[in-house]
Amino acid sequence: MSVWYRVHWSDCPPLTEENAWSALWGATRSEDGSQTECRECDGSGESFGERCGSCDGEGWEDCVPGYSCAASVAELLEYFDRPGMEPWGEAVIAFEGRRVDTGFDGEPTAVPERIVQTWTWEQFVAEHKES
Ligand SMILES: [Zn+2]
Repeated sequence: MSVWYRVHWSDCPPLTEENAWSALWGATRSEDGSQTECRECDGSGESFGERCGSCDGEGWEDCVPGYSCAASVAELLEYFDRPGMEPWGEAVIAFEGRRVDTGFDGEPTAVPERIVQTWTWEQFVAEHKES
């Protein structure tokens, strides 16, 4: 079991094992959250009159299991250390969990079992960032 760090956007459902599916931002989710509507064919299963190659004609693609997260405080700070990227006002959550996969940006994804600590981004930065 490892501890993972994640910025948890306030418009996401609560951080729980059941909600632990990553999706591309803005994608339409299936009812159980485990799939998103195929972006190539908009869920129709067809692309230019042929069976869509991205989703095999199903119109849905599997989400990556687990939450995108960082393996350390330093990694999380580094990830958001870009102009305009800092998630002011959002929550940072440290959670214990198991790594299950790799996300869209090559980051680890993990399923949480226990929340260890929660900060706001401001608190997190104040506590951890060396200036
Ligand atoms: Zn498709």
